[in-house]
Amino acid sequence: MAGLHVRSLLVTGANRGIGLGLVQHFLKMPKPPQWIFAGCRDPKGQRAQELQNLASKHPNIIIIPLEVANPASIKAAAAKVGEHLGGSGLNLLINNAGIVKLNSLDTETLEDMSEIYTTNTVGPLLMAQAFLPLLKKAAQGSPGSGLSCNKAAIVNISSIGGSIASSFGWDLMQVTSYRCSKAALNMLTKCQSLGYREHGILCVALHPGWVQTDMGSSAGHTPPVTVDGSVQGMLKVLSSISEKDTGTFLDWEGNAIPW
Ligand code: NDP
Repeated sequence: MAGLHVRSLLVTGANRGIGLGLVQHFLKMPKPPQWIFAGCRDPKGQRAQELQNLASKHPNIIIIPLEVANPASIKAAAAKVGEHLGGSGLNLLINNAGIVKLNSLDTETLEDMSEIYTTNTVGPLLMAQAFLPLLKKAAQGSPGSGLSCNKAAIVNISSIGGSIASSFGWDLMQVTSYRCSKAALNMLTKCQSLGYREHGILCVALHPGWVQTDMGSSAGHTPPVTVDGSVQGMLKVLSSISEKDTGTFLDWEGNAIPW
């Protein structure tokens, strides 16, 4: 990963699945980040055990209590991260936390539509708002004029399921609430790229592949992509993207996905 050198990053939903994989891969880099902020909504819970074990061995992992559907939790997390960073900024915000409900078109409800939208779409919006001062600070503190993930970036983990053009996997999973939330996340990414370009912050929506995690396997099929394969691919993509890629929708192999 020669091209990706970040001093600090935050990953939401870092206690399992792709989020945990991201933390593990950042740790293994030849020059690991000085700060890996691992957002986790229940740091003391059973599902955070692996992350806790990892953090006990690596002092550069800081577990941050973070419920992305709760504005107060997001604000508290931003304050905590700011304290750790002292005067410096945050290079990379990875909005990874997400949920799905295996509803069909006919069984979607107001409650499910709202819950999924709040977590998958509003969460990343509020996260970016709260961490904007730290991202701006990182951009200002980095040399060079172009945009890059080494400088300051927001990476929204989206899904090809939110692609209106592809309608990927409809026969396997209708998951309309999930698809709508990710289509909206894609639009949010575009808006962020337009709004934050002047601050030197790159914004991209990334599809991780169909990955072997709790979510990926939830419909009873074995996904083709391992967490390691997905994360390796995404980090390679993040190491190579620049100014021209802000506001785009890419997959873990770097291919552009049609909106
Ligand atoms: P998992 O279900 O394995 O993990 C989801 C993570 O998100 C967990 O850490 C979970 O925490 C966290 N999370 C969920 N809701 C919240 C919340 N409200 N606040 C804070 N954290 C929360 O999913 P994946 O690792 O597979 O998915 C990661 C991302 O990748 C998601 O955005 C997903 O939509 C996307 N994606 C995944 C694909 C796949 O095939 N796996 C395909 C396309 C996209 P907890 O343990 O507390 O529940």
